[in-house]
Amino acid sequence: MSTNDPEEGLTTTVYYDEDADTDVLADHTVAVLGYGSQGHAHALNLHDSGVDVVVGLRDGSSSREAAEAEGLRVTTPTNAAAEADLVSVLVPDTVQPAVYEAIEDELEPGDTLQFAHGFNVHYGQIEPKESVDVTMVAPKSPGHLVRRNYEHDQGTPGLLAIYQDATGDAHEVGLAYAKAIGCTRAGVIETTFREETESDLFGEQAVLCGGVTSLVKHGYETLVDNGYSPEMAYFECLNELKLIVDLMYEGGLGGMWDSVSDTAEYGGLTRGDMVVDEHARENMEAVLEAVQDGTFAREWINENQANRPSYKQLRHAEKNHEIEAVGEDLRGLFAWGEDEDGEEHEGTA
Ligand code: NAD
Ligand code: MG
Ligand code: MG
Ligand code: MG
Ligand code: MG
Repeated sequence: MSTNDPEEGLTTTVYYDEDADTDVLADHTVAVLGYGSQGHAHALNLHDSGVDVVVGLRDGSSSREAAEAEGLRVTTPTNAAAEADLVSVLVPDTVQPAVYEAIEDELEPGDTLQFAHGFNVHYGQIEPKESVDVTMVAPKSPGHLVRRNYEHDQGTPGLLAIYQDATGDAHEVGLAYAKAIGCTRAGVIETTFREETESDLFGEQAVLCGGVTSLVKHGYETLVDNGYSPEMAYFECLNELKLIVDLMYEGGLGGMWDSVSDTAEYGGLTRGDMVVDEHARENMEAVLEAVQDGTFAREWINENQANRPSYKQLRHAEKNHEIEAVGEDLRGLFAWGEDEDGEEHEGTA
């Protein structure tokens, strides 16, 4: 365990395999509700770690066959929860409140309700009964990597948070779950439902999904509007981003600056803050405030209740941005190196 050691510069606790004991789950049945990105990975990793797993899926779910083909038992979410001592809620965040209603009566005192994201609990869309433990083990990665890393004897970094500790064992059970899905192999950071939820929403809105796509589109449009070819603009503003991000992933900002030319480094250091300036920082503060005060959560809940009118419109507009058509053509024209499975992508021309 690495803990709050100012000399190491850590402000949090990190848990590894030796801090966790999967024997805690030996007499447990774990229900995994949902068999999507996270669900299939958690269910299969738990199963391979020797944990008794039952998958809860809606009647007629297209995932049933896939789960059964892997040797997993499948039943309805309600039946799975009835059988289980630990229920891992891995259906989409927007359907979790309805699924919780369907399983609430099956949760017995001392059971564990486990999440991979804190949205519904933090914003009061699910109010877990007081008699159960409420944990979060959230891999910081898409599910297919959680599964692939596990199969390759590697780990996936994750978060652990305890919202409610009815039994006094919530922490131990959460760590055991994190170990069984492979997260403690890499390291698990202790956090809270609030911190995970708010930082996750802020990150995806301001930087990872929203900020980056906006930066890419503005860069692309600036070049194209000034007479540069769409293909050049695509390569420069979108395609090369992966290479830069890979360098940051491996070696931080410094690793990236070391690898680019001095000209790129000087230009970037002098011009970056001109583009993403103090005004952008103020906008980020506003985005964070809307996350913290629940404005964003209310907006998203209402949007879903209204059958997603704005969301559909925005998705449509994004799909129809010129950069998408250019990218589709280019991706068909060039050999694109290796994909994540180490398979080469062949160009068609
Ligand atoms: P997903 O959309 O990939 O999968 C959802 C699964 O739930 C599917 O198997 C689907 O069939 C099932 N499902 C959908 N509607 C249902 C319903 N009404 N009743 C029962 N089952 C239903 O979901 P996901 O992305 O794996 O997200 C699950 C949780 O994991 C969420 O809380 C999410 O925030 C969290 N999470 C996701 C990621 C990620 O990379 N995808 C990363 C970290 C945390
Ligand atoms: Mg039960
Ligand atoms: Mg998220
Ligand atoms: Mg995230
Ligand atoms: Mg260049």
